[in-house]
Amino acid sequence: MKKNDIQNRMFVEIKNKEIFKQVQQYSFEYLENIFDRNVYPTEEALNNLSKFDEELPISSTKAEKVLEQLNQNGSPATTATLGGRYFGFVCGSALPVGLAAKNLGTYWDQAPAMNVLSPIGSKLESVVEKWLIQLFNLPKDSSAGFVSGTSTANLCGLAAARYRILKKNSWDINQKGLYNAPKIRIVTGKQVHSTVLKAIGILGLGQESIEWVDVDNQGRIIPESIPALDENTILILQAGNVNSGAFDDFETICTKAQKADSWVHIDGAFGLWTGAVEELKHLTQGIEKANSWAVDGHKTLNTPYDCGIILCEDTEAMTASLHMSGSYIIESKQRDGMFYTPEMSRRARVIELWAIMKYLGKEGIDNMVLTMHQRAKQFSNEISKVKGFYVDNDIVFNQVIVRCDNDEITERVLNKIQNLGECWLGGSVWLGNKVMRVSICSWATTENDISLSVKSFEKAFELEITNANNG
Ligand SMILES: *Cc1c(COP(=O)(O)O)cnc(C)c1O
Repeated sequence: MKKNDIQNRMFVEIKNKEIFKQVQQYSFEYLENIFDRNVYPTEEALNNLSKFDEELPISSTKAEKVLEQLNQNGSPATTATLGGRYFGFVCGSALPVGLAAKNLGTYWDQAPAMNVLSPIGSKLESVVEKWLIQLFNLPKDSSAGFVSGTSTANLCGLAAARYRILKKNSWDINQKGLYNAPKIRIVTGKQVHSTVLKAIGILGLGQESIEWVDVDNQGRIIPESIPALDENTILILQAGNVNSGAFDDFETICTKAQKADSWVHIDGAFGLWTGAVEELKHLTQGIEKANSWAVDGHKTLNTPYDCGIILCEDTEAMTASLHMSGSYIIESKQRDGMFYTPEMSRRARVIELWAIMKYLGKEGIDNMVLTMHQRAKQFSNEISKVKGFYVDNDIVFNQVIVRCDNDEITERVLNKIQNLGECWLGGSVWLGNKVMRVSICSWATTENDISLSVKSFEKAFELEITNANNG
């Protein structure tokens, strides 16, 4: 091949648009089938993944061939998280307008590190920052960083906390590091999410130094069990326990923390959105007294992946922890996104976040999130009536914890549900028992999806009984 053959070919690909049309056709077919398809890939689809096991080709492959292989062997091996019967982990679907906006954003290929690098990315980040602060009723001067998810958002919030506490002790963490630094206390509940622990590890704060607080049978911190707080303490709370969906008592705890001048970080990956819902607002009462909040767009709000947000009322602490500079950096009077995130270059995920918030409006967000809650209650009601199943949590939001009579049966039934392919969910451990964890956070989940899934649970249980009797 001559040196510039590939370059010429790429100009042709742009000009005749065939490969873009090809992919558009694939995506239309995908969307048409995803709501009725097997929720988990079939055996055959999984086996076909071995077709990707090849050496890096020496010579160039035609673009349409590359895309054809991706579609043929890739599409069937996706999980139908986009549909209405995927209840695994805490995932979220993606709104059509979000997919479409992301698609446009893909062609723009923007990196909103600096305003000068992407004026549109920068503008949308400023607008959405303001919208989020209003929606969650947070302090007006708070700042937002647009990151890949709550894992990173937790890291940023705790980095800001670390900076502020040490600064108050006349210790510049960026310059001096943690060796010989004044001690930072970390207080959190025994049900804290593992990504918070990861952040504590990365930040050098040491998981061993955590002062653990007891939780109740829903996973909420027991306020009376919190040790005496002080100005060198980071207190980490939770809006939405990853199993039960429970919320800490922010009003009581944050008031206490404020008096002690502690830093409060709230992990609200999926739960923070209840703050935007009239009927669920009580769950997040008092969060405005905290200092930093981590939340995902890609879970409850149903933005496409990946989309997380760190919100922080102490802009100086946040930007000082994440700041970088270089002789080639052009700072502007508008927003330079990289001062609010660990990365310099990153995709403009705010595009689809903006599109979804604009599309839904306050009422639409309220409606979508409340519907998830109602479907969770429906699931809980229906499954409680089926012989052999028990619900182990209060349905405060979107999570339902289900189990059978003992760990062995629970595990086998869960396995059968997964194999039936009509819905998908994972397992967990709750109050010492193996459980099945149903997370309802897709805009697409209908009442019928819930009933179909409950039937699938029933079917799996009957198969289990038959098997047990036969052998
Ligand atoms: C999902 C989740 C996280 C991690 O968020 P990612 O977006 O997956 O990085 C953290 N905390 C809670 C409570 C979660 O549900």
